[in-house]
Amino acid sequence: MSKQVSGPPKALDDDLQESFFLEARVDTTDAIFTAVRPDGAIAWVNSAFSRITGYSFNEAVGRKVWEFRCPEEIEEGSRNFQVNVDGRRFESRWRTRDDRTIHLSWTTRSLYNADGSLHLRVGTAQDVTAERETEKRADDLSLLLDRSMDAIILISNQRRIIYCNQAACDLYLMSREEMLGQPNDIFIPESETARLAEFGMAIRRDKKPVEIDTWRRRGDGIQIPVHLRVTPLIDDDGKITAMASVSFDISDRMALEERERQAAERAQLLADLVENLSDPVFHIRPDGTIGYVNSACERVYGHTKEEMLNQPSSMLRPDDRVALMARYIREVQQNSQPVVLETEALHKDGRRIPMELRSTTLRDAEGKVLGIGSVVRDMTLQKELEAELRRAADTDALTGLANRHRFSRVADAEARRAMRYGHGLAVIVCDIDHFKSVNDRYGHAGGDQALKAFAGTVSDCLRQPIDVLGRVGGEEFAVILPETDLSGARRVAERIRSAVEKLQVRHDGRTFGLTVSLGISLFRNGETSLEEAMKRADDALYKAKKNGRNRVEAAPD
Ligand code: GH3
Ligand code: MG
Ligand code: MG
Repeated sequence: MSKQVSGPPKALDDDLQESFFLEARVDTTDAIFTAVRPDGAIAWVNSAFSRITGYSFNEAVGRKVWEFRCPEEIEEGSRNFQVNVDGRRFESRWRTRDDRTIHLSWTTRSLYNADGSLHLRVGTAQDVTAERETEKRADDLSLLLDRSMDAIILISNQRRIIYCNQAACDLYLMSREEMLGQPNDIFIPESETARLAEFGMAIRRDKKPVEIDTWRRRGDGIQIPVHLRVTPLIDDDGKITAMASVSFDISDRMALEERERQAAERAQLLADLVENLSDPVFHIRPDGTIGYVNSACERVYGHTKEEMLNQPSSMLRPDDRVALMARYIREVQQNSQPVVLETEALHKDGRRIPMELRSTTLRDAEGKVLGIGSVVRDMTLQKELEAELRRAADTDALTGLANRHRFSRVADAEARRAMRYGHGLAVIVCDIDHFKSVNDRYGHAGGDQALKAFAGTVSDCLRQPIDVLGRVGGEEFAVILPETDLSGARRVAERIRSAVEKLQVRHDGRTFGLTVSLGISLFRNGETSLEEAMKRADDALYKAKKNGRNRVEAAPD
């Protein structure tokens, strides 16, 4: 690259001369001026050229103009130089002497020789680096905004949408064209208008970003919950130039929160329910200590919650039930279903409380054992009721003797025992004589009184509690005599007959006597129940009635 030319060449034509005369003027401008020969060699540059590119006049002149371009543009530049681009603005990137890239915006003018051949090409260029870089930053920013998953919308002070990114289009189901220029309230449902107006005022007043969960109406009219962050964009003078609204769909979050809220509500409800349950509920940790007790536990066990919590659960049971409970807890842990146990609890005052325990193994979500949870039923009342019922079901209300039901149960049990051990077993059947006439004479109440007195008298003739007396019919009674033979049974029957004969029944200020007829029979080996023996005793009784009553007859062997 030659530096043989310095200053304006001597043989320039008038046009060029004219441009040189402009030198003083052009040198005072910011614009670059160049004069380039047809082969691309620089013939002249102004001082702005040196100022902007860093190359002095002497360094520039003689070099091909495209050599100043960025390396990747050099070849293209040399080709382009052949094309006449007069009057058309074009840009090229140049590399400065200190290796910076600058953007130059050119216009050229071609000067021709008389024969029409190109003489010089004069170019002027503006340094547009700053603008291009700003634009690029803006492009990068907008690219960035467009890549953002959040919906971003810029709103002018006139409250119109001046920018929206792709995510905004996706979220609100509207195209850019539909959104740009629209008032910003196209998204705001009526229900949120007042709230958002206040929100807008607060931002303008405080000039600070504000966040809010709100509702937006999409292009299809459907409302969606969004989280909104609005940031005021503020210029150097502190004036708001626009509002940047960043929003994202929180349907999922809301759904999650709603689920969590419902779960918490359910848990609370359950906790309240358990707490207020009239049955005691407790939790025993794997180490055997008490982790939870509800209020009912205080009532049933007599301890306060504080006295029970964190204590070994054995404090709630009698000593003789501890081993049973340990076995029970093992069984519960091996079962996925609740396991029920009837046992006894220990009250603080030492009382034993019959109870039913219903327990399950508690596990967390990962399946880790958290101990066992138990619901306790205080069976005190139940037990009393059961005993009462059992008595009522088995006992004759008038005389307090075993009724037919219990009598036959005992009879069968005794028959089995007699069979097993080869013991004798006798049965006596009694029927009060002419009882109808007792009723007739003394009324039903008198009859009842007679039945009670009769029952007491017969009971007194028996071995307690070996012999069993039952009322098996209206005024028919039966006695089971275990380990008794015929003569023994005869003696007992005779004793009964004679005691009844002596009995004086008092009723309504009057006194009367009774007699009874009795039939005896023995249980025979090989019989499976006492039924046959009873039947034989009945036959004997019939015979006693026939033979004049107030007497004992035995069934034949
Ligand atoms: P027999 O000597 O032949 O046994 O004569 P009887 O009158 O006792 O005859 P029967 O056994 O046929 O009659 C029994 C009567 O006992 C009939 C019924 O009115 C009466 N009776 C049965 N149960 C009761 C009761 O619970 N209370 C009273 N007051 N009477 C009863
Ligand atoms: Mg009878
Ligand atoms: Mg009778």
